[in-house]
Amino acid sequence: MLRIATPLERRLIPQASPCRVAIIGGGYTGATIARLLAIGGHCEEHDIVVFEPRGKLGSGLAYDTNDSALRLNVSAARMRAIPDEPDAFLRWLHDSGTLAADPDATAADGAIYARRSDFARFMAERMQPVIEGGLVRHVRERVETVVRSGSGWRVTGDGGTRVMADVVIIATSHPKPKAPGPIAYALNGHPRFISDPSQPNALDAIRDQDRVFVIGAGLTALDIITSLRHRGHEGKIVAFSRSGLMPQEQAAGTLGPHGDFVSKPCHTALALLRQVRRALAEAQSRGLPWQSVFDALRQQGQTIWQNLPPVEQKRFLRHLRRRYETHRYRMPPQVATIVDQGLRDGRVLMRPGRICRVERSAKTVSVDLIVKTEGVVERHDFEWVVVATGPDHASVVTRQPYLAELERSGCIQRDKHGLGIACDGDSRAIGLDGHPIETLLIAGPLARGTFGELTGVPEIAAQAEQLVAGISARLLQGLPRRRHA
Ligand SMILES: Cc1cc2nc3c(=O)[nH]c(=O)nc-3n(C[C@H](O)[C@H](O)[C@H](O)COP(=O)(O)OP(=O)(O)OC[C@H]3O[C@@H](n4cnc5c(N)ncnc54)[C@H](O)[C@@H]3O)c2cc1C
Repeated sequence: MLRIATPLERRLIPQASPCRVAIIGGGYTGATIARLLAIGGHCEEHDIVVFEPRGKLGSGLAYDTNDSALRLNVSAARMRAIPDEPDAFLRWLHDSGTLAADPDATAADGAIYARRSDFARFMAERMQPVIEGGLVRHVRERVETVVRSGSGWRVTGDGGTRVMADVVIIATSHPKPKAPGPIAYALNGHPRFISDPSQPNALDAIRDQDRVFVIGAGLTALDIITSLRHRGHEGKIVAFSRSGLMPQEQAAGTLGPHGDFVSKPCHTALALLRQVRRALAEAQSRGLPWQSVFDALRQQGQTIWQNLPPVEQKRFLRHLRRRYETHRYRMPPQVATIVDQGLRDGRVLMRPGRICRVERSAKTVSVDLIVKTEGVVERHDFEWVVVATGPDHASVVTRQPYLAELERSGCIQRDKHGLGIACDGDSRAIGLDGHPIETLLIAGPLARGTFGELTGVPEIAAQAEQLVAGISARLLQGLPRRRHA
């Protein structure tokens, strides 16, 4: 039925203002793309709109924290956050006085592991000139809908802002974590069940002697242990995962990557595993730490991934992913010290296995764990249960109404491995009909299914550069400018 808005309604419905590029999500990825577009010379005032509910651009889930215990996982020298200025962050740490105010940042080998909140400050400062100059407009709203409209896209935020954009870039990478089904079922609504520790002050109510059950043993779990210990927590912490594998430590000193995994491409996961083992043996014989091999794997990760056919990519994810990730995503020395101390004094326990019973009472949660290899059942009582399984990427489309709608309308589809959204090598979303959509782009970790290694800052920076070059050449130079209605 055709419904015609009354004159009053027409005045209440905000007009969509035109822009060249709408970026959804202003974390590190969205902010970096906005900045590169702004300084690239193809945009005018308000041409770039970034929808981001957080107060600052550039921080996102990873760096938007006021917890001073949380540090970057890699040294500042390796962050390479600003394309063409690889040492910009390191210089800023020195020049801004941030390093002088944070003596714990410097590890024994001299490498600097800055606070995550300081990286957020650095990014916000980098964004300031392009925002103040009017090239980038930060709309502090969550995008609710993205709808095709003529040759462009109508993007609507939850505060009622609407823009008509020539190009839309999707950069809402990390969804909330999801607790394993039985835990979520048993503890749903329990006041001491923390299902999203990334929320501000999520851990504040945990008292110093409380016993804490951490579900997960990856970097998020180590963040929680570090954060609790830093604020004086002394109670027992049990970190639980199916495999029991924990992130490894960074190696001391400056390392060069070791290993060539692309000159003779591997087309199966098994061949890749053999090649890695050879490189590890070789590194050992030359007195190099294993970390240098994983640094080479990371650097060559996109080519390695793209050389594997989809069935072998699947095999890699099923059999090798967890092991790769615990060696690739490593903990900074400050965290390693805290975790080692906890493991030594017995107040931190790592438990691999399966949960077989969860029982709740008003103030405690009792859990039975079938501990792997021994098969013994351990019973533990806790005051708190914290989900630390990290972002639940498999649910990214269903948890974002605007993405679910884009999927329903055939504009996007999930990638075949459930890592994010399908796109081509130019980052263009692949529609349901299998064709790339020129004006809808996928940026950052959501594009991992296509690119492979695309989680860390340097890899995202490289994709951002490539994506901006692509849309500048293909689209922005040729498109007629939209005019305000
Ligand atoms: C805890 C953590 C620590 C990390 N540490 C390091 C490190 O030390 N070094 C390193 O190289 N890499 C690190 N990484 C990896 C890397 O930096 C991140 O993957 C990167 O920050 C991704 O940024 P992003 O902008 O793509 O995603 P996100 O950080 O997830 O940002 C997405 C943004 O989108 C916004 N958003 C979500 N939905 C909507 C919507 N509907 N409308 C509008 N906005 C929306 C969110 O508010 C968020 O700010 C870390 C990652 C995590 C999770």
